[in-house]
Amino acid sequence: MIGMLEELTTIDALRTRVQAERKAGKRIGFVPTMGYLHDGHLSLVKRARELCEVVVMSIFVNPLQFGPNEDFSRYPRDLDRDRSLAQEAGVDLLFAPSVEEMYPARMLTSVSVAEVTDTLCGKSRPGHFTGVATVVAKLFHIVTPDYAFFGQKDAQQVAVVEQMVKDLSMPITIVPCPIVREQDGLAMSSRNVYLQPDERIQALVLSQSLQWAQQQLDRGERSAQVIKQGMIEMIARQPLAAIDYVELLEYPQLREVQALERGQRICIALAVRFGKTRLIDNAITVVP
Ligand code: AMP
Repeated sequence: MIGMLEELTTIDALRTRVQAERKAGKRIGFVPTMGYLHDGHLSLVKRARELCEVVVMSIFVNPLQFGPNEDFSRYPRDLDRDRSLAQEAGVDLLFAPSVEEMYPARMLTSVSVAEVTDTLCGKSRPGHFTGVATVVAKLFHIVTPDYAFFGQKDAQQVAVVEQMVKDLSMPITIVPCPIVREQDGLAMSSRNVYLQPDERIQALVLSQSLQWAQQQLDRGERSAQVIKQGMIEMIARQPLAAIDYVELLEYPQLREVQALERGQRICIALAVRFGKTRLIDNAITVVP
């Protein structure tokens, strides 16, 4: 589709528009986001444009996936800016519902995915992935996409959504997309705006420690524990960094590994707090 971006705020209006496109035989691509768009989000739109004739983006800061002491109320929002970035990137339909539109009453139904949520953010943010799976399932029912695009920045989220789609036979192809980084290596995130200048500098240790881990693998290190410990020491040298987790796991099963084996697909993942800001990053790699 070429033309002006159309913004829809109700489920009915979005459904009517998508159904018309689907009837015309168009492939529907869907990019779910929480807004405050950056180049990471826009890379998903770009990929969607390559595979689909109609691109739908949602912007919805989903209260279900935030814990009671997390940043739901102060999560950055700027719909005017997002609207123009989405338009420029080639989004056709922008779905920006209110919380009341999505959840007019208390939700009595939820989708929870077991096992792949036992580690990483699933462990340190209890209930987070049930909130994610529930809103993604709901958005999938509203948008009925053929393809949905997710960033590997949230590697565990990709694993959760893929598992849900498989288990519930949803007729949707999940397309994982690579992590987009700032020039100095920091993974792009809407939460990066929270960082104070000194935190922003020290936050470089996240991508640097992942690079260091990759070098250890390339040099033949096969102990997950040794790599993990080295990363922890490296991060701990930054005085403002408080480690939430550093893990090496099989991917996409997200099971712990001890002795790494050649050909094994692993995810090296970490979450680190700088003041009130919690950052995540990861690298998915095959043991050489
Ligand atoms: P969010 O708005 O943070 O919920 O992210 C919406 C989508 O954009 C998710 O699929 C994220 O994984 C993806 N995303 C966020 N940051 C990046 C990034 N730096 N690179 C690639 N994808 C990203």
